[in-house]
Amino acid sequence: MGSLLRPVDLVNQPLGFQERYKILQKLFTQLQKAYAHSKRTNMDLERLATRLEVHVAKNSLSGQSYKFNMSILLRDILKYKGDLSKVKINGRPLKGSKPSSNTGPIFTRSQAMEALKALILDVKALEKNGYIVEELQKESNDECDTQLYVPCLRCNTNFKKIDIMENALCRFHPLKKIYNRETRCHLYPCCGETTNSVSFLRLGCKTSHHHVYRGESYSDLCKISEFSSSAHIDGVENVLSLDCEMAFTSLGYEMIRLTIVDFFTGETLFDHVIQPVGEIVDLNSDFSGVHEIDQTKCPTYREAIGMFLSENLINKNSILIGHGLENDLNVMRIFHNKVIDTAVLYSKTKFKVSLKNLAFEFLSRKIQNGEHDSSQDAIATMDVVKVKIGVSPSQKIWE
Ligand SMILES: [Zn+2]
Ligand SMILES: [Zn+2]
Repeated sequence: MGSLLRPVDLVNQPLGFQERYKILQKLFTQLQKAYAHSKRTNMDLERLATRLEVHVAKNSLSGQSYKFNMSILLRDILKYKGDLSKVKINGRPLKGSKPSSNTGPIFTRSQAMEALKALILDVKALEKNGYIVEELQKESNDECDTQLYVPCLRCNTNFKKIDIMENALCRFHPLKKIYNRETRCHLYPCCGETTNSVSFLRLGCKTSHHHVYRGESYSDLCKISEFSSSAHIDGVENVLSLDCEMAFTSLGYEMIRLTIVDFFTGETLFDHVIQPVGEIVDLNSDFSGVHEIDQTKCPTYREAIGMFLSENLINKNSILIGHGLENDLNVMRIFHNKVIDTAVLYSKTKFKVSLKNLAFEFLSRKIQNGEHDSSQDAIATMDVVKVKIGVSPSQKIWE
């Protein structure tokens, strides 16, 4: 059996890998029969089988419908003697037998707008997914909670918020622990220590002089600075994809870089490292990719907001695209309600799918290997939405 014959990894698999693998082999054998007298090599057929199988897997909502669609496909391949133009999956013809990368239909701007508007989250979905909705905040008017102590996000020690800039010993693991079923304990991928270890290193392979926290409630965020609303900004109806990088400061968790990309031209409209309001505790460089903030060059948070809340960037008519965009809007501290969120679009449970996985599955693009890059992430998020509505990520000209 050929080496290429292996099901493509999918975020939402209709069936387990082993079962898909067996069916893929059957499909390959069937193609060999159908093309016995053609010039196609086994390698060609392996590629074709892999492509057909992933197409069926993506178009089947359950294991049962996957098996059903596959049995029809296996039958039709022989019935039509390998003529794939006659084969249908879920009642729809296969769009040619080539991968549909750059050959999609050309959309007009208004067709794309219509498709995008159908993906905008309603208020209920916004609330359910952690968005802070302006109208609801005005009503609730929650009393400021005066939490003096908070647990450190890294080492779980309770510490006094106002003492955050004083020296402390924070011992932690930078990467999340993973459960290992065989040894029945958790492993830290950063250093290889386990929760069963007797070494003091199990408490953490990294140390810092400060604890860190992240205030996520509306009143916590307001303490850093008030929210601004896009509702007061008139401007063009644009579609913008955005992504922030964050860091720990004396006031909690703040934005330190923002990238905004235009959906239609693919152009980067805004990309700045930004000075946070609070004093920097840790730039989180391993993740944020930001290693320094030059105070003579980088805009302050106030200056930045004056730049990105404007008639040509984020205004009341903008449609904003992001992955887990509630985190970005919260650290930007803006209210905006026309939102498309790829984490919501593609997550079926409360565990949200990662952008890294979506980019790999839908764009065959590897991102976030190591430090994150808000520019790369904003573009990947935008392209995932393009693929979702059937627009080619390479389309730059619109009528
Ligand atoms: Zn570690
Ligand atoms: Zn700590």
